[in-house]
Amino acid sequence: MPGEAEAGEALVAHPDVGKVTFTGGKGVARRVMATAAACLKPVALGLGGKSANLVFEDADLEAAAVQAVYGALGLSGQGCVNPTRLLLHRKRYDEMVARAAAVAANMKVGDPFDQDTVAGPVICQAACDRILGIIEQARREARLIAGGERLQGELGDGFFIQPNVFADVQPGSALEQNEVFGPVLSITPFADDAQALAIANGTRYGLGAYLHTNGEVVLSGGAIASPGVLLRSGIGAGADLSALGIDVVADLPGVGSNVQEHCGVSQSRQIDVPTYNTMVGPLRLAGHLLQHATVKKGILTSIAVHAMAYARSSPELSEPDIAMSFLPLAIGFVGGHPAMAKQAGITIGSQVLRPHGRGRISLKDRDPLSKPVIKHALLGDPRDLELTIKGSRLVTRVFAAAPLAKHVIGDHEPASLPESESAWEAYVRQRVGIGYHPVGSCRMGTDDMAVVDPQLRVRGVERLRVVDASVMPNIISGNTNAATIALAEKAAELIVAG
Ligand SMILES: Cc1cc2nc3c(=O)[nH]c(=O)nc-3n(C[C@H](O)[C@H](O)[C@H](O)COP(=O)(O)OP(=O)(O)OC[C@H]3O[C@@H](n4cnc5c(N)ncnc54)[C@H](O)[C@@H]3O)c2cc1C
Repeated sequence: MPGEAEAGEALVAHPDVGKVTFTGGKGVARRVMATAAACLKPVALGLGGKSANLVFEDADLEAAAVQAVYGALGLSGQGCVNPTRLLLHRKRYDEMVARAAAVAANMKVGDPFDQDTVAGPVICQAACDRILGIIEQARREARLIAGGERLQGELGDGFFIQPNVFADVQPGSALEQNEVFGPVLSITPFADDAQALAIANGTRYGLGAYLHTNGEVVLSGGAIASPGVLLRSGIGAGADLSALGIDVVADLPGVGSNVQEHCGVSQSRQIDVPTYNTMVGPLRLAGHLLQHATVKKGILTSIAVHAMAYARSSPELSEPDIAMSFLPLAIGFVGGHPAMAKQAGITIGSQVLRPHGRGRISLKDRDPLSKPVIKHALLGDPRDLELTIKGSRLVTRVFAAAPLAKHVIGDHEPASLPESESAWEAYVRQRVGIGYHPVGSCRMGTDDMAVVDPQLRVRGVERLRVVDASVMPNIISGNTNAATIALAEKAAELIVAG
């Protein structure tokens, strides 16, 4: 921000500012950190200035050249996310270098109040001298194809520097590595994807990267985030998007609908042998940490769910419709908040494997930083309610069965068991929770409500696929991770096949 250190310091020290994110020079960063330290304020420092722009052989070079040069040299290169390193595939290198030089030569540098101006001056005399010094040094290391001078004429009194483009810049050279924070673009060739990645990642000063290719975008944000990204990008129910002020790219009413979850309820009991409830006090935890660090054994190597069982709610069913998870700890979920019991105990949760309820992911506004709104339909269908109650009743039978029953010494959650169907319904309605298995929000199919086609391509949008749990048309009757991995491997085959 302008205003030298005084304005920055006032901002950092302001009591209403809870955290400081700073991107800039090292000297100012030290001052920011010192001011923040005095008032115990957290600081995040971003090291920008050398972000990479990768142009692959199948890219549209005309568009890439404009974006690459304006992106790097706009603001006279004084933006932390300016991609000041342009990496070009060797096969299109000469062609793209010529285009970049032409675009840079036509950039208008001058009065910032002039509508046609693309880049104004650099910030001060010291910055101007430093940048010109870097350009002189770079002339000895690489091939200057545009710029090279401070602007003369009526702009001569200001700190105006021509847009500079250097080709044949070696990876690891001073120009390729060090932040310039001025209008200097470096161009480096690469032979293949692996080399491009290595060069792009081979600097400390990068906040992002840009890719130019004719390939496709694969969206894999998960069943909550992926529909959110599509909706914010104008892909979703047209009327809903318009109401939020988002331009409609594709009117796909199915985006965000069809959300499925394994709804379930758990119960816990006190038992007469030690469990995690009595094994994780502060002192004991230190012992477990030591055990884990030294011999890689003990309860810190263990996952929460130690066993699962699959059951049929009635004998005539051909497949299980209820899953039970067994946890070596007693935990309650009243109001959706987990609470550990103080006595030794265990928990058994039951889940509906193929729920009928369908929830929805939507947006509350067009702000890209707003979280999507999640509306599950747990127990939204009477069949799911009935099966959740059946699952809970089954859990009580498991607790009451030998050999477990002889260890059960008291109730924990619920404090006393419901008896009538209506009491069970009230219990289930109060405690129902998710299985952390959301799927279906960008459903695959061929009908009007489908979001992606059977090749996982977003319907009505070119070169965009969704590959994650959101594309499952129906939730699987088990935990979802392995199925998502299988789905992703199949998607990789589809993408390679074209
Ligand atoms: C607490 C919990 C426990 C679970 N336990 C199990 C289990 O024991 N067994 C099992 O089979 N399944 C389990 N699951 C489910 C399993 O994790 C999911 O089914 C699986 O991870 C889904 O894979 P995905 O690729 O669809 O989404 P994710 O694995 O969620 O991957 C999406 C990725 O996208 C990233 N992302 C999202 N938005 C953005 C954005 N805007 N920009 C950049 N990145 C973004 C996310 O950070 C994330 O890394 C569990 C889930 C949770 C939440």
